[in-house]
Amino acid sequence: MSYQLVNPATAEAMETIEHTSLDQTDDAIAQAKSAQRHWAGLAPAERAEILRSFADAVAKDVENLAALEVRNSGHPISQARWEANHVRNVLEYYAGAPERLMGKQIPVAGGIDITFHEPLGVVGIITPWNFPMTIASWGFAPALAAGNAVIVKPAEWTPLTTIRLGELAREAGVPEGVFQVLPGRGSVIGNRFVTHEDVRKVVFTGSTEVGKTIMRGAADQIKRVTLELGGKSANIVFADADVDKAAATAPSSVFENAGQDCCARSRILVEASVYDRFMQGLEKSVAAFAVGDPTKDETEMGPLVTSVHRDSVASFVDDDKVAFRGSAPTGPGNWFAPTVLAPTSLDDRCMREEIFGPVVAVVPFKDEAEALEIANSTEYGLSGSIWTRDVGRVIRVARGVESGNLSVNSHSSVRYSTPFGGFKQSGLGRELGPDAPLHFTEEKNVFIPND
Ligand code: NAD
Repeated sequence: MSYQLVNPATAEAMETIEHTSLDQTDDAIAQAKSAQRHWAGLAPAERAEILRSFADAVAKDVENLAALEVRNSGHPISQARWEANHVRNVLEYYAGAPERLMGKQIPVAGGIDITFHEPLGVVGIITPWNFPMTIASWGFAPALAAGNAVIVKPAEWTPLTTIRLGELAREAGVPEGVFQVLPGRGSVIGNRFVTHEDVRKVVFTGSTEVGKTIMRGAADQIKRVTLELGGKSANIVFADADVDKAAATAPSSVFENAGQDCCARSRILVEASVYDRFMQGLEKSVAAFAVGDPTKDETEMGPLVTSVHRDSVASFVDDDKVAFRGSAPTGPGNWFAPTVLAPTSLDDRCMREEIFGPVVAVVPFKDEAEALEIANSTEYGLSGSIWTRDVGRVIRVARGVESGNLSVNSHSSVRYSTPFGGFKQSGLGRELGPDAPLHFTEEKNVFIPND
């Protein structure tokens, strides 16, 4: 089987990607299993050096990787450059881990007791189409650093940058079989990661629906999983905040990557007394949000990834509820103008379901308690922002929102040095931050007697 890629901004047909078969997947897993033993046996400093070379190879290829992401995914070029540099940074950060994977010496009677962090073996990483290369790196960099072999299955729609990262890894000296990329179908390759006994952990980023299938399947072998799933995050604006700044920055928190972002703040909750003022500011900032040709430096938002996805996003927009829209090109390409909805009911579909496009719903709230109640009224809990000048409220609301990643008076994007992951049905486990390599190890306890 194969898949014909289409440029999202021009609707032009591009490369055809051959899909990996089940037999080829099994061969890759066997190769990874044998390569992993050698990789884990290298001196920690040697593994670190190879990961640094991989980071250097990515650094030299930033322009090429960014151009591939623009063509394949429609990401604006400035954002795609940030993503490629981020992959370099993630590799560089975790290149420090092999030499710091320290166990403990625990006081016991009659001898010594020490712990080791042993690699799991083969790790399967399944990625979504919205941030193909960055999300892959959050899994493969710490997994490789901890001595595992890794197989990445990119999403069907957006495999090009991940395939390129596989080539760069080999050129940089990552031994054959230690880092493999298998383009193809989730139901074939991804599912094989779940059912094959030699794959010891599955890192899945994607929809909550598929995440549940992976978790169910993994139960059969008590297989380790990390799940990074959907989101419906709230941007909460209190009346005492810098309301103008909150309105000016809100578009970037939800329309970046055309809203195809698990952390998109797709619900804005505004204290009723400043709702009108906020909406006036938001209308201006949405009108100024630059949507267009993703190859241009000044573009802030490109097209949606495919026409199928554009239709899915459009299904959430009921013209009666549109407060205002920004602009978008017409003609070929999966264009969708940034859209602001003002729903009259908190039960509206746009307030509950993940839209994964440039559509945001804005609703008023009366007090802090109601803001928290609305913010927590979804099955998700990934991200969010809180705008207020009251320090006590910052503490209360930040502790009260059921979400893994919050920012105050800002909309911080993901940082490789801090943990990232979801509450509730937004996921299980954490990626990034200093502890990520430990999530690709088993802790082993060894007692050695004195005599
Ligand atoms: P998806 O669940 O449709 O697909 C994700 C990946 O899983 C793809 O590679 C796909 O081929 C594979 N897959 C599909 N069926 C499978 C199966 N039965 N077994 C194994 N693998 C299978 O998601 P998507 O549409 O590509 O991505 C969008 C979703 O990803 C959104 O819900 C978004 O919120 C989520 N996401 C979450 C995070 C996070 O960190 N929490 C980050 C980005 C995206």
